[in-house]
Amino acid sequence: MDWLEASEEHIRRERQKARDLRRSQWWKNRIATGICHYCGKQVGARALTLDHIVPLVRGGRSTKGNCVAACKECNSQKQHLLPVEWEAYLEKLRQE
Ligand SMILES: [Zn+2]
Repeated sequence: MDWLEASEEHIRRERQKARDLRRSQWWKNRIATGICHYCGKQVGARALTLDHIVPLVRGGRSTKGNCVAACKECNSQKQHLLPVEWEAYLEKLRQE
């Protein structure tokens, strides 16, 4: 994976796919557990958001393998952290 910014077209296409994915039975099953993929907290299905492990701007895709259910806290943390800082955040969660 390179660190070039993905094209506008890629982002637009993958965002549309993410919207379709959110309506799928696969996603409904995914959030039914109510558990955040990252911190493992039980937050309830309504509080879970679709997060791309590899962000779309980094060339990530809206595939089932790249989309996880994340709580709002983890999602917002991930957005403003650098990948290396995000790793440190996950490491901290594992130690708690
Ligand atoms: Zn979380």
